[in-house]
Amino acid sequence: MSERDAKNPDLNVHQKPIHPKVTIMHVKKTSSLPSTLFLRKHDIIQPNFLKSIQRNVPKIFKLFKFNLKTMFKKLVILSLVSLYCHFLHFFIIQFKCEFPDLNPYTKNDDSTISDAFYVSKDESEGLVYNPDELQNLNQNLQHFMLFSDPHLLGPNVNFFDKLWHEHHMKISYESARWNQRKLFHQVMILGDIFDWGMFLKHGQEFDDQVNHFHEIFPNAHALLGNHDVAFPVHTNTYRISRMNAAMGRRSLAEVLTVSNQNFVVLNSVGASGDGSDISKEFDRKLDSIGRILFENGLKSEKVRASIINGTLNQTPNNPILVQHFPLWRHDDSICSTKPPDTANAHDRFYVNKPAREAVPPAISKNILEKIKPRIIFSGHTHNWCLREFDRSSVGAGKMELKHPLFELSVPSFSWRNRNNPSYLMVSVSDHGVGWKKCFVPKQSTIVGIYVVTLLILFFVKL
Ligand SMILES: [Zn+2]
Repeated sequence: MSERDAKNPDLNVHQKPIHPKVTIMHVKKTSSLPSTLFLRKHDIIQPNFLKSIQRNVPKIFKLFKFNLKTMFKKLVILSLVSLYCHFLHFFIIQFKCEFPDLNPYTKNDDSTISDAFYVSKDESEGLVYNPDELQNLNQNLQHFMLFSDPHLLGPNVNFFDKLWHEHHMKISYESARWNQRKLFHQVMILGDIFDWGMFLKHGQEFDDQVNHFHEIFPNAHALLGNHDVAFPVHTNTYRISRMNAAMGRRSLAEVLTVSNQNFVVLNSVGASGDGSDISKEFDRKLDSIGRILFENGLKSEKVRASIINGTLNQTPNNPILVQHFPLWRHDDSICSTKPPDTANAHDRFYVNKPAREAVPPAISKNILEKIKPRIIFSGHTHNWCLREFDRSSVGAGKMELKHPLFELSVPSFSWRNRNNPSYLMVSVSDHGVGWKKCFVPKQSTIVGIYVVTLLILFFVKL
């Protein structure tokens, strides 16, 4: 005993333990398992405790009826299933999706030839064309991918939610482009690019989100929707102008010429008719577009530059109209119930509010008269709808349509908004437009594959 220990007998552990329970105990071996598996609370003071655990890890695994080899096999299987679910499955499901053929003689439907249009029973394929130009239907043929409402998530959701939905949109987008890479020309997104766009803070937060969009959907032309700049009652010129600048939009209404085809791009938030400065500006732009396209008027270079985006195709032709809100319809009861992505019973009879679910009736009429579109593509509802307008609604005259006028509402591209998102592959020539709808994998299929895999791994001995 040292002199110091003698002065302080409490430190003399040989003579007087600190507490009887902290004495190192030797556990009697009562089974084939090592005694260290029965460590008690006081045993943690044992200096060799960690080494003991390390030595006995395989035995602990055996105790719980699995071992490292089995675990490794299961991890490999799970990794392969993940690779399939989040990558290969998308390429396989979308492999058959091609750009449609504009030849009406391939549709096996005699009425196609006489009526200058074809629509399949489930509306997944369709074609409109000028019957006077049957020999030139592939003149200036271009191919476009169209989809709507990706709703890229903002900083208001958790990381996994964002990753799950955006990874699958990106892989859908990449596989669609890769499968048709030899024919692919352009991509158009029909609005609601962001889910939280109107609330993004000025500066870094907004810039990061815009860069993120360009990473996920590179080389896409994007329209603005209410989630990007807010509904007409809540929007303002700041929100609209920053999104216009970020997405390359010229103004509230413009003629965008891509691959030598004219698209009229309208900002539905401006098409409110509510008497605000924004709605008045929209009406002025609409008038100007009509004069440029059909009257060869409006010589002012300044006004033309604010409307014409690209090199205008001067061929006398009706443009394609793209916008976020659909043109006015009272509800979706005019849409067929046959397609698998049409509105459900609740949404189908939901009465639309003007400038919220659809462009107000008077503005819709004005758009048709001024733009005289040959076909219309819109989004916003998240559901599929094909409707036909009275073709006289675009007015008579030399640009009178030679085929029916259809509007196609394209469903949302995100699993967050529906289980079976889809997109359109569109072929456009100077004399015809054809579409083919393609579905991306269902979210329920991916979840189902995981559930079955986990059950197999749990119950089947490997
Ligand atoms: Zn919307």
